[in-house]
Amino acid sequence: MVDVREGKDQRKLINDLSSLLQDGASLGIQVEGLPLVEVELKKASCRQKARTVYAARKSLDFIEQLLSEAVVLHIDEEKLFAEITEILSTARCWEKRASSILASETQLYDLKDLVRMSVNMDAVLPSLEGIENTISSAETWLQKSEPFLSVASSTASASSPCSLLELHVLKDLVSQSKSLSVQLQEPMILETLLLNCERWQCDNHQLLQETEDLLDSAKIDDGMDITILSKIMDLITRVDSARKSGLALGLNFDELPKLQTASLKLGWCCKTISLSSSSFSSELLEDVGKPSLQNIQQHIKEGQTLKINPEEYYLGKRLVELQDTGLEWAKRARKVVTDSGALALEDVYELISEGENLPVHAEEELQALRARSMLHCVCRKPYNSRSMVSCSQCGEWYHTHCVKLHWKPKAYVCSACCPVTPQIDAPRSMEPETPSLNHRRTRKVATDAEIKDLRWQNRKRVKRTAKRSPQVHILPWFFT
Ligand SMILES: [Zn+2]
Ligand SMILES: [Zn+2]
Repeated sequence: MVDVREGKDQRKLINDLSSLLQDGASLGIQVEGLPLVEVELKKASCRQKARTVYAARKSLDFIEQLLSEAVVLHIDEEKLFAEITEILSTARCWEKRASSILASETQLYDLKDLVRMSVNMDAVLPSLEGIENTISSAETWLQKSEPFLSVASSTASASSPCSLLELHVLKDLVSQSKSLSVQLQEPMILETLLLNCERWQCDNHQLLQETEDLLDSAKIDDGMDITILSKIMDLITRVDSARKSGLALGLNFDELPKLQTASLKLGWCCKTISLSSSSFSSELLEDVGKPSLQNIQQHIKEGQTLKINPEEYYLGKRLVELQDTGLEWAKRARKVVTDSGALALEDVYELISEGENLPVHAEEELQALRARSMLHCVCRKPYNSRSMVSCSQCGEWYHTHCVKLHWKPKAYVCSACCPVTPQIDAPRSMEPETPSLNHRRTRKVATDAEIKDLRWQNRKRVKRTAKRSPQVHILPWFFT
């Protein structure tokens, strides 16, 4: 019987003992050995139950109950039960350690150690599931926090201006971190980041309000407030610096584009003031002090992209007026430039003088008009973008059409310089005479760049040219 006691075939033993008991009961008489058989059957059943501990993990309660039965049946000393006692003791030891870890400042690596140790336990550990959940929550939280942790540790220069990290996600993570039953450094880092973000937002709220107020003051500024420019410059510096620190925080803040717009609007006001002040004092300054028409147009356009209506600003309105005056003159000037010499020279001079006295600088049109006031050739007409040739002796310019040249010769001497000698490239019969001028130029055909050189550079030159014209006509040999 001892052989089968701890043997593996307990099921067969149970069957045999059960049949024996049934047979004994069916005899209908008192059999002396029956109670012994009954005890042996209980022992066999207890051992069979003990084997299930190895087949699948059982709860600690189940194992405790099993061991108490074994004690009652006096079989707890058997090897099988000694091993199960060891399993129970190891599991209790694990549980004790787990509760001590969970009670104090729980570290993630301690919990992971517990899980690793639990792999070799042949019992269901009551705390294991909770610990696994704690680890899983902490790891999920860390994973979600990773981008925020990386911006919190990165330097200002490394942060991207188009971050996708949202503040509300950071807030959620900080609030979730309160329910993590594990000690981590990371929630503190995120809390600091959140605190910095909130502080930054609070400062910006004030800055944006200041910007609104200053823009309102700039609207009514008539150029007499000498302090406003420095106030605007100071605010631009603060707004730009706030934007920079916002970018360094690495999150996507609604305030960032607002700050950028605020800085651009303030910059626009600054430029409005400086453009206006240079046009106010234009009578005291040289031409270079006046704002150019192009600059004013560009500036008003920039304002439109910032959704600024220049008319809302006292000085902006003045710039619009300057622009309108300048454009109106420029339109007239461009028309005269291409009129093929139709407008009388003195009217061209008047238009030039009007342009020079404008409070804005329209250099391109002025230069074109000055070129228009230069008369050349036998026809005494302006260049007017027509093909021209220069006399290699006197330097005077001739329209090829006027001197009856049907091609641009490599060299040309006008008939005024050489009235009798026929030219190879341009026979005398093909061109009229023209007054001889003293300065000489190398032989060449006029290019656009060279024609540009011809443009009248200053007022004195205009007067001289103007006087020269009638003298030309009284020369007796002209056009003979
Ligand atoms: Zn001509
Ligand atoms: Zn000549």
